[in-house]
Amino acid sequence: MLSAASSPSDTPAELDETVSVARDLIRIDTTNYGEGRSNGETAAAEYVAAYLRELGLEPELFDSEPGRTSVVARVAGRDSARGALVVHGHLDVVPADPANWSVDPFAGEIKEGMLWGRGAVDMKNMDAMILTAVAELLRAGERPARDLILAFFADEENGGVFGSHYLVDTRPELFAGATEAISEVGGYSISIDGKRAYLVQTGEKTLLWVKLIARGPAAHGSRVVPENAITRLAEAVAAVGRQDWPIRLTATTTALLGEVARILGVEPQALGPDELALATGTASGFIQASLRTTTNPTVLTAGYKHNVVPDTAEALVDIRTLPGEEDAVLAAVQELVGPDIEIEVMHRDVGLENEFSGPLIDAIRETLAAHDPGAEVLPYLLPAGTDNKALSKLGITGYGFAPLRLPEGLDFPAMFHGVDERVPLDALVFGRRVLTDLLRSY
Ligand SMILES: [Zn+2]
Repeated sequence: MLSAASSPSDTPAELDETVSVARDLIRIDTTNYGEGRSNGETAAAEYVAAYLRELGLEPELFDSEPGRTSVVARVAGRDSARGALVVHGHLDVVPADPANWSVDPFAGEIKEGMLWGRGAVDMKNMDAMILTAVAELLRAGERPARDLILAFFADEENGGVFGSHYLVDTRPELFAGATEAISEVGGYSISIDGKRAYLVQTGEKTLLWVKLIARGPAAHGSRVVPENAITRLAEAVAAVGRQDWPIRLTATTTALLGEVARILGVEPQALGPDELALATGTASGFIQASLRTTTNPTVLTAGYKHNVVPDTAEALVDIRTLPGEEDAVLAAVQELVGPDIEIEVMHRDVGLENEFSGPLIDAIRETLAAHDPGAEVLPYLLPAGTDNKALSKLGITGYGFAPLRLPEGLDFPAMFHGVDERVPLDALVFGRRVLTDLLRSY
């Protein structure tokens, strides 16, 4: 059923199955509010499991906590001697405030040739592409080249504690035989100097979520209070938020910027790293953040009465370092805020960096070349994280490859966790076809 807000005239008479599955998933509100608060993923997990059962597969559902459901299913390949490939997505989404959106974020509206809604980009689009790509193979009596482990995780949007990390830690045998993984935040196209380029995510920055705590005397608001906890916290927050972290290029970002320079027809040294990053257009926000550490204050908590100085003040800071730099950055942050501010690490996870070469990368290049001849295929370091971090604990090398051919003007990277999340219908169909061919051949 279309929601009342939809414009039926915009809805194609017959929806492609990838579009309709993505829309069904968007209509299941799996909002993850963080810190364990969530609408839960069970309804979406049951939808996915029912779909997989119809294909003759035997999905298993796992609840880490009531309502926090993940799904895993194996697909036998033609050659089980090859390492299994984990093809994974997450079922949860970040919150969406309908007041900021031009459509109902959970209606799955279709208009202007696009599917709109929370998860259209991150990442019910890819969930649907995975399901329907596997369906296309199995319904045709075909099998993927190697064994697939299909995983649809809960809780990715809060670090995967109740999803990927839970399964990797408690049920590692589910991933037995897996060597590589593909998932989200890579594979989409951008435009560099008018040329289409697909960004394959070959690495991820670390994740370091900390709380800054300032303490001072509780006092009447009329007193002289030089040790005021809020004042001290505010200074610390400003220092961290204003810090200009230096650029440090890794193997991935060096390779990417070299390729951007080549496409632009300039020497890499002729432009600075930030200038080359800007040439990636809509992706430049991601790329610039992949060149350096970032430390963004995100939540402030202090005080309870206008005329009472509180004895504590707290701030949450979202720190993303380059792989391997967590401890050095933590020490630098302590230096920045001074010894009187306590730093509590709430959650941390590793960074990843993989080679942009090897059989899987070759297969990705070949498949994209067949579907979009002449397009560039480039590596990039994701400034955020995915469930590939959890899988890396099992020695599984993870990439971001959710292929989407996008129109030049669409600011796709901005829609991750943004308002009016939407994906072109033809990009979903393209993505399923590329994914189907990749799973068939690799
Ligand atoms: Zn995501």
